[in-house]
Amino acid sequence: MQQRLSVVIPCYNEEEVISETLKRLRDFRATVLDMDCEFIFVDDGSKDRTRELLIAAQAADPEIRIVGFARNFGHQTAVTAGIDAASGDAVVLIDADLQDPPEVVSEMIALWRSGYHVVYGTRVDRPGESAFKLVTARAFYRVLNKLSDVPIPLDTGDFRLMDRKVVDVLKAMPERDRFVRGMVSWVGFKQVALPYRRAERFAGESKYPLRKMIRFATDGILSFSTKPLQLSITIGLLSSFIALIGIINTLFVRLTTPDWVAGWAEIMVAILFLGGVQLMCIGILGEYIGRIYNEIKRRPLYVVQDKIGFPSKE
Ligand code: UDP
Ligand code: MG
Repeated sequence: MQQRLSVVIPCYNEEEVISETLKRLRDFRATVLDMDCEFIFVDDGSKDRTRELLIAAQAADPEIRIVGFARNFGHQTAVTAGIDAASGDAVVLIDADLQDPPEVVSEMIALWRSGYHVVYGTRVDRPGESAFKLVTARAFYRVLNKLSDVPIPLDTGDFRLMDRKVVDVLKAMPERDRFVRGMVSWVGFKQVALPYRRAERFAGESKYPLRKMIRFATDGILSFSTKPLQLSITIGLLSSFIALIGIINTLFVRLTTPDWVAGWAEIMVAILFLGGVQLMCIGILGEYIGRIYNEIKRRPLYVVQDKIGFPSKE
């Protein structure tokens, strides 16, 4: 039987790029690809005409499938829904804004056929991104790698090809705060990097405002490491040690000199310092507890409003 490829494309307010993306993907399928191929568009609760455009395109192309969320659940959840819906022997994750060139997928397929289970795209160049994004992203991947218990490749996004074996393991991972690229690293199997030039966004603006970027970075670190908790113990011990020196000093001054009332500055410093450390450690603890709470609620990961173009099961 012919091998089958599923391409998963998460979209959030992408009306400006969707037709071009479709065109590039179709061209790619028609000219380069030598396997059956379905396109799974996950509309992550767009507020613009994205879903309308997708539905219109689907009417003309039976290999387009649409999973339409009931609201915006976030990029990582959209990717998850696409993976859940994919039926191919290999699944490719690609952004809707054409920053990941579809043409690179054929190199991914070649590596997959030579026996690799995961081929992930590593960005060697990112034109058109703000200096702030470049610097924070670079720092993030390095900090994440220091903290994480599994090695997560540097400067690697979600643009990747995964074998069915890996996809089936991912589907069995029910965690809520999802950091897909880390989860794929955790799975194991034979993985290989494929360097590529990341293009500029074709049109429109980034759908990752600072708020979402911070959330994404915390998910990455907290889902793959408990080191912040250990760090808070270290900080606690360190500040206790400093406090001990302060206590000895206070007692010494109180007992041996007549001018001990003058110590109010030390008291203020100690209270403020300890208060800060305590709040920070409670905050770290709180983040983990929040995540535990999120897990035990056991809500579905996402809510699908429309599911269009999927072959009906007999
Ligand atoms: N995206 C999504 N849901 C969101 C935010 C983004 O599905 O809440 C999609 C978006 O449509 C795009 C991909 O995720 O296909 C990457 O987003 P974007 O290009 O805005 O991020 P950037 O490349 O700026 O990091
Ligand atoms: Mg982008």
